[in-house]
Amino acid sequence: MSNQLIDTFGRIHNNLRISVTDRCNLRCTYCMPEEVEFMDKAQLLTFEEIARFAQVGAPLGINKVRLTGGEPLMRRKLPTLVRMLGAVPGLKDIGLTTNGILLADQAQELFDAGLRRINISLDTLDPDRFRQLARRDGLDKVLDGIHAAKRAGFDPVKINAVSIRGITEHEVIPLARFAREHGLELRFIEYMPIGADHWERDKVYFADEILAQLEREFGPLAIAADNDPRNPAQDWDYADGGGRIGIIASISRPFCMSCNRIRLTADGKLRNCLFALTEVDVKTLLRSGGTDEQIADVIRKNVWAKWEGNEINTSRFVKPLRTMHAIGG
Ligand code: SAM
Repeated sequence: MSNQLIDTFGRIHNNLRISVTDRCNLRCTYCMPEEVEFMDKAQLLTFEEIARFAQVGAPLGINKVRLTGGEPLMRRKLPTLVRMLGAVPGLKDIGLTTNGILLADQAQELFDAGLRRINISLDTLDPDRFRQLARRDGLDKVLDGIHAAKRAGFDPVKINAVSIRGITEHEVIPLARFAREHGLELRFIEYMPIGADHWERDKVYFADEILAQLEREFGPLAIAADNDPRNPAQDWDYADGGGRIGIIASISRPFCMSCNRIRLTADGKLRNCLFALTEVDVKTLLRSGGTDEQIADVIRKNVWAKWEGNEINTSRFVKPLRTMHAIGG
C-alpha cells in the first residue's frame, strides 16, 4: 500500500478536520437536537493526543487541518493547540470554523498563535430568525466576532450560511450586501441531512437559485479565475468588483469524487466521510502506547476503505447516528 492516503477510487487525502469538542453554545436546528448529552471531558482527546495524530498524519500527506466542533472556541486554551499544530512539520494550513459567539475575545490570540484561516457561521442578519434557527440569542456577539476577526488581521474572513428553503431566500441579499460592505467572503452551504431535524430535498434552497437571486440584485457573477473544481466550494466573482461569493452545492452538485478529507472526532474516532456509517477508534491506540506505524496503518486502512460517496441523492441513503455537532462539520 502506498504511503499516501489514497483510496480505491484514486482519491488522495491531505485534509484533516479535527473536532475539539461536541459542546456548543447554540442549538442550530439543522445541526443538533435541543437536548444533548455531551461527551465526558475524559473522553475528549487531549491537545497532546491531537498533535500526535497530526504528526503521524503529516508524513502521509496531511498538510491541511481545520479545527471544528461542536463549537471549537468552547474548548479552553485553543490557541495552545493552534501553536502545537503549527509546529508539526508539513502542516501548512490551519483553519478554524466557529459560530463566532466567543470570537471577539479570542480572535487576536488565535491570530497571534498562527491561525490564518477562519470561517464564521452566520445564516441570518435578523435577530428573530437567528433565535429561531439557533434556539439561542447571539447575533450581536457573532457580528462583534466577525469585526474582531477583521481587526486581528484575518484575511479573508469567510462567512458560512446554510441554505434552507423558506429561510435563505430572505437572507441572500442582506447577507451578500453585508459581506460586500465589510470585505467578507460569503459562502452558502446547501442544507444536508446530518442534523437532528427532518430533512427533505424540498428544504434545500439550491445553488442555482442563490446565484440567480444574487445576479438579479448585483449584476453578473463570473466563475472565479482561480476557482479549483476539486474544492467543495465553487467561487464566483461579482463583475462589478464587489468581491467574491462561494457556494458549496453538497446536494445539487455533489463533490464526493474529489473528496480529500478525513475527520477526527473529539472522542478520537476516525471517519473517512461526513456521512460514514462506521468509524475507527484511534483513541485507544493513542492511550495505550500504540506506535506511530500502528496509527499510520489505521489511517491508511480507513482511507482505503472509503466508499464511493454519500448516497444522499439516492433512496439508499442512511443517516449516520451522530449528528453534525458530534462529528465536526
Ligand atoms: N460551531 C461551529 C460553527 O458553527 O461554525 C463549527 C461546527 S459547525 C457543525 C460547522 C459548519 O457546519 C457550520 O458552518 C454549520 O452551519 C454547518 N452545518 C451544520 N449542520 C449543517 C447541515 N445540516 N447542512 C449544512 N451545513 C451544516
